[in-house]
Amino acid sequence: MIKEEEQKQLEILKLEFDRGKHRDEMLLKREELEVRKTETLRARWQSPLFLAVVAAIFGLFSNAAVALLNGKSERDLEDKKAEAARIIEALKTGNPDVAAENLKLLVEAGLVTDSASKIQAYLNNRQPGEGAQLPVATAATQAKNYKQREGPIRSIIVHATETPRTDSLDNLVEFYSKSESPGSTHYLIGADGRTVKILDEAYAAIAVGPASDPKFSNQSSISISLVGLSNEGFAEEQVTALENLLVDIARRNHIDVNDIVGHKDVTVPPGRKIDPGPHLDLEKIRAVVRSKL
Ligand SMILES: [Zn+2]
Repeated sequence: MIKEEEQKQLEILKLEFDRGKHRDEMLLKREELEVRKTETLRARWQSPLFLAVVAAIFGLFSNAAVALLNGKSERDLEDKKAEAARIIEALKTGNPDVAAENLKLLVEAGLVTDSASKIQAYLNNRQPGEGAQLPVATAATQAKNYKQREGPIRSIIVHATETPRTDSLDNLVEFYSKSESPGSTHYLIGADGRTVKILDEAYAAIAVGPASDPKFSNQSSISISLVGLSNEGFAEEQVTALENLLVDIARRNHIDVNDIVGHKDVTVPPGRKIDPGPHLDLEKIRAVVRSKL
């Protein structure tokens, strides 16, 4: 009985749909699918708690779809989309604790409606150091020395900054943002695992120098630099952050896991560089990445 009634209602709704609204709905659906695809991929390499926040984001999108179905205004739809965008921005900290703080502020300031209290529940259940975060995305290029990229990305090169692990990430970002810095990298991973992007992947970093194979050259690679000294090794948090970042980059750029290499493995002549050194077990890291792809 209820089902029949619902079906009737649905049919009436469908009939009420004019062409413009239908087209808008399809656009929304497509957008939702795109976001879902990207976010699902990211979620796989994040803590399971990430799903809670992604669910909240999709909650917003489906609310938007419902608003549209009910003939609510375009304005409502835009508001919901803006909320989803704010949540994604709030997560781009490279640090789950900072991300949680941002989410809390958004809810408190009423910049996102947490009607189902999903975000609050996530914040309450989160353990320090765990949870949702996205790598810091810099809109502008921060590294000063780079080249236009002229071909596809085919490999990922792992480096050490060869500065003490205690060196602050902010100092290194500052260092690479000066034109007199000797080169660049795409990502920096600090001792606490905080990840900062200082060069968009669309550009080629100046990081590798002469390489044994064109696919490992600056033009064809993405460089990740771990803050630390090759002969001392790296913190566990850095290795975990590296694995997560590698999965993300490899997936987005369709990179073969075997083409994730250390700088020392591709230099010409051999031995020109020693980073990331003997303490970073790249074979093991590749295995972890492979299992998460
Ligand atoms: Zn290097």
